[in-house]
Amino acid sequence: MKKEIFDVIVIGSGFAGLRAAIKAAESGAKVLVLEKMKTLGGNSVISDGGMAAAGTSFQTTLGIEDSALLMKEDILKSGGKESDPILVETLSTHALAAFDWAKDVLKVPFRDDVELFGGHAKPRSHSPQGPPSGRPFIVRMEALCHNLDIDIRKAHYVSDFYYEDGDLAGVKCKAPYRFNQPLPTTESLFIANKGIVIATGGFSADVAFRKRYDTRLDETIDTTNKPSATAEILRLAEKAGAQFKGMDHIQLAPWTSPEEHGFGDGPLFADYIALPKGILINTKTAQRFVNELSDRRKVAEAILIQNYPVIAIADQTALDQSPRDIKKALEKNVVRRYDDLASLAKGEKITNAAFLKTIERFNGFVKEGRDLDFVKPISDQTTPIATPPFYAMRIQPKTHHTMGGLKIDAKARVLDQHNQPIKKLYAAGEAAGGIHGQSRLGSMAITDCLVFGAIAGESAAFEAS
Ligand SMILES: Cc1cc2nc3c(=O)[nH]c(=O)nc-3n(C[C@H](O)[C@H](O)[C@H](O)COP(=O)(O)OP(=O)(O)OC[C@H]3O[C@@H](n4cnc5c(N)ncnc54)[C@H](O)[C@@H]3O)c2cc1C
Repeated sequence: MKKEIFDVIVIGSGFAGLRAAIKAAESGAKVLVLEKMKTLGGNSVISDGGMAAAGTSFQTTLGIEDSALLMKEDILKSGGKESDPILVETLSTHALAAFDWAKDVLKVPFRDDVELFGGHAKPRSHSPQGPPSGRPFIVRMEALCHNLDIDIRKAHYVSDFYYEDGDLAGVKCKAPYRFNQPLPTTESLFIANKGIVIATGGFSADVAFRKRYDTRLDETIDTTNKPSATAEILRLAEKAGAQFKGMDHIQLAPWTSPEEHGFGDGPLFADYIALPKGILINTKTAQRFVNELSDRRKVAEAILIQNYPVIAIADQTALDQSPRDIKKALEKNVVRRYDDLASLAKGEKITNAAFLKTIERFNGFVKEGRDLDFVKPISDQTTPIATPPFYAMRIQPKTHHTMGGLKIDAKARVLDQHNQPIKKLYAAGEAAGGIHGQSRLGSMAITDCLVFGAIAGESAAFEAS
C-alpha cells in the first residue's frame, strides 16, 4: 500500500475543512486535504453564503447596534439549553474576526444590506453580492490553499483510520472514488504526524443514520443537502471511541417546497421574503399558526403538526423591498403569482371564508406595530399584505442541518466517552456537535465553520493536548 507522510490531514473540503487547512499551513504544518467528491466544497459551495456576525462595519453604517453578547444570547436561546455554553462563547467572541477574515483576507464581496433571520435579535446576516452562494468563499479559500502549498486530493474517500501501537496515526483512503459506485480497491495510507481534522459536514442525506436518531426522518423526507452528506466518518469516529453530542437535533428547513427536489429555488421567496414579511397559513383552517420569525425548529415543528398543506404568502411590496430575485421559482411554478387575494385562495385551494379575515387581522397588527396572536416582531419595514399581485408557495420541511455530531472542546479536540481528548483527533463545522443545541440559527453555520475550522487547524498543527 502506498504511504505518504504529512503533519496535518484534513478530511473534507467545505468551509470548515479549507479554513482548518489554511490555518494549519499558516502555522507551519505540511497539510493534506482529502475530499471524496470530484469537486470541492461539499454543502458549503451550494449554501446561500449568508454569514452572521455582530459589530460589523456594515451594521455600523446602517446604524444597527449589535454585540457578541447579544449574538451569544440568541444562540443559547435557540439552542434551548442544549448548547455547550463554552463553545457558544468561543463562537460568538470569534465571529467578528472570522467575518473580517472573509471580508479582508478572502475579499468576499459582501453586499451593503444586512438581513434579519428568525431567532436573531438584530439584522446580522451578511451575504455575498450576486445570487446567494457559498462559492465566493470556496473559490478564494481554494486559491489560498494553493498559495500555501496545501496538497488537495479530490475523489479520495477516507475509508478507515490507521493505528500504530494502538494510537491513531493516519487514515486509509480509496481512490479514485465515484459517488454511488462501489468503492475502488486501490488503497493508500496517509500518515498524520500531528493531527487529523474531521470536517466532513453533516448527515442530513444519510437516511439510515438520521433514522437512528429521529425515526420520522425516513426516505419520504427530502433533504436540502447534497446526496454526499453522509456519516461514514462519524461512524468511524464512534468506533474510535468518540462521543456524540445532540444527535437527535436534526434541523428541518421551514421554507422548502414539496413541488421541487432538494433545496430548490423556492427558499429565496419563502425564507427571505414571505417568512420575514408575509405569513404562513394552514390551507384548511385559513389561519396563521406560528410566529413566522421564530427559530427554524419552532416554525418547522409547527408546520409538521398542521396535517394540512401550508402556504407562505407575501405581496408585491414585500417583494419590491427585497433584493432577492424569485424569477426561477416563478418560472418553475413553485411560487405562484395572483392578481388578487380571491384568486390566490382559489388557486391554493383555501376554501375557508376566514382567509380574508386572517389577512385583515395580520394587516391590523402591522398597523398597530404589535402581533397580538404570535408576537412576530413588527418593524418599520413590515408592511401590510395589501399590494397586488400576491404570491404563494407550498411549504414542506426538509432535512437541512444536523446540529449533533462529535463532541469537541474549545480547542476543537474530539472528546471520548469520559470527556478526554482523543489524541490527534480534531473536528470542526457541521461534523462537530453541541454548539447550536436544538436549533441552529440561520447564517450561523458559516460563522461556526470558519471559527472552529481555524481553531481545529491551529490545534492540529501545534498538537494541542
Ligand atoms: C442549500 C443550503 C444552503 C445553506 N445556506 C447557508 C447559509 O446561507 N448560511 C449558513 O450559515 N449556512 C448555510 N447552510 C449550512 C452550511 O452550508 C453548512 O452547515 C456548512 O456548509 C457545512 O460545512 P462543513 O465544512 O462542515 O461541511 P461541508 O461543506 O458539507 O463539507 C464536508 C465535505 O466532506 C466531504 N466528505 C465527507 N465524507 C468524506 C469521506 N469519507 N472522505 C473524504 N471526504 C469526505 C464531503 O464530500 C464534503 O465535501 C446551508 C446548507 C445548505 C444545504
